[in-house]
Amino acid sequence: MTVKHQVTEELLTAYAAGNLPEAFNLVVATHVSLCTEARVRLEAMEAVGGALLDDLDEMPMSHGSLEATLRLISDRPKEPIKAVPVQPEASCKVLPKPLMEYVGGDISKVKWRPIGMGAKQAILKSSGDADVRLLYIPAGSELPDHGHHGQELTLVLQGAFIDGDDRFARGDLEVADEDLEHTPVADIGEDCICLAATNAPLKFKGIAPRLAQPFLRI
Ligand code: ZN
Repeated sequence: MTVKHQVTEELLTAYAAGNLPEAFNLVVATHVSLCTEARVRLEAMEAVGGALLDDLDEMPMSHGSLEATLRLISDRPKEPIKAVPVQPEASCKVLPKPLMEYVGGDISKVKWRPIGMGAKQAILKSSGDADVRLLYIPAGSELPDHGHHGQELTLVLQGAFIDGDDRFARGDLEVADEDLEHTPVADIGEDCICLAATNAPLKFKGIAPRLAQPFLRI
């Protein structure tokens, strides 16, 4: 399938260059495994990256994504981040293959912890400067109003959530940054399961979520 809300060019380029922290790497790999068009974009980007590496002297280096790709390749960390294989969507499973390999099984293997109001989370192990977690939000529930100190990637795996005028369903990726303040609401009909990665703490408005923040590591 091709989803409505796809990964940004910037993130996909960094993913293709192996330059994302593990948490973001996992989210992008999982998104790409659910979206045919994103997978085609990634393959084109990897072909460009390969051609650049093969033939650095002869390629013009003056335009946008080529230049960005080259810069990301040259800025690559010494220890490469563990790659997550990009796979076609497995039918009938909640967790696509890259995520199943991470969790060690499908959704029944997830060790959820309650975070209040019927919501649950499971923080996944990751190295580097970003965290990644699975979130379970009961249908119709609101997440606390918050802003962001950095980037937040939210990928829907089951159900859907509404954010302002946009609806995000399975495979859709929302990229939030310092400029966005929001109150996502799980759509009615089905409980919503998301994979969310952040590279900085969230900025909560309410006192209760602020008090709970250190315990929830969010
Ligand atoms: Zn957010």
